[in-house]
Amino acid sequence: MFSTTIAGSLPKPDWLAETHKLWPQWRTQGEALAQAKRDATLLWLKLQEDAGLDVVGDGEQSRQHFVHGFLEAVDGIDFAHKVEMGIRADRYKAMVPQVVGPLKLKGRVHAVEARLARAHTNRRLKFTLPGPMTIADTVADRFYGDRVKMAFAFAELLNQEALALQADGVDVIQFDEPAFNAFMKEAADWGVKALERAAQGLTCTTAVHICYGYGIQANIDWKRSLGEQWRQYEQFFPALRKSSIKQVSLECANSHVPLELIKLLRGKDVLVGVIDVASDIVETPEQVADTIGRALQYVSKRHLYACTNCGMAPMDRAIAEAKLRALVEGAALARKRLA
Ligand code: ZN
Repeated sequence: MFSTTIAGSLPKPDWLAETHKLWPQWRTQGEALAQAKRDATLLWLKLQEDAGLDVVGDGEQSRQHFVHGFLEAVDGIDFAHKVEMGIRADRYKAMVPQVVGPLKLKGRVHAVEARLARAHTNRRLKFTLPGPMTIADTVADRFYGDRVKMAFAFAELLNQEALALQADGVDVIQFDEPAFNAFMKEAADWGVKALERAAQGLTCTTAVHICYGYGIQANIDWKRSLGEQWRQYEQFFPALRKSSIKQVSLECANSHVPLELIKLLRGKDVLVGVIDVASDIVETPEQVADTIGRALQYVSKRHLYACTNCGMAPMDRAIAEAKLRALVEGAALARKRLA
């Protein structure tokens, strides 16, 4: 009851990369950088275990950014000539690489960190990949001329890596689709299908994470514009419910998402965001247990997981560690309250 996990990313130590940044520069290069990434992966595995998390991950320590970490392993993309593009329905501008030819994986993307993590923990291991719609919204297309076609091309590549991660011993593969909350109708029309293509043939647990973004200013301003009730989920949860994806990770802590929308996911595991990643105030176990209690009105005990709202990459490391402990203590308190 109330297994604990995180959305994915964790802050990078300052000997690995710039801190408090979503697109940090690495501190070193070559073999020294590869070693530093492995060391940071092990460090966070240990800290997640010490905090008491049930499902742990690599904290995305080997990726500069959750989308580009994947794109760097793909042929057909020109990284040398980035262009500025409005992303997530023009919520903010980003410098993005361009798709200039047929997409193909150069080789494995996350083999090193997945095998390293598997060798060093007995806990359930989760790995995150960007979802096909979100990738298609984070590159400029100069080749396919059709966003859906390009997204499905990415879905095929994601599927190759996901099947390989499963063979590495990963227990949960989660696709991150923040773009679903920016393109709700497209998410229902084809985004969920592209996601299923990416997850095709997986027998491990599959998950999708859909949030309102990291705690960066552009997202904070956007959230202010969304009004009293955030009902984006309502438009594509019915399509997700019919899909083969087993778990859905969503934002609940300090959010304006009406929790009754969780009902639209009947039958799925729901990873309830009980930790706000856009605030440096560390939740108390009572607050975490209260959020779990409110969500429990709409999802059964056995389907409820306690999770973070989103990744913690740009946060202060000490605060992130404290929030992991609050997450675990809050889930324990919720269990006690219900016993
Ligand atoms: Zn997120």
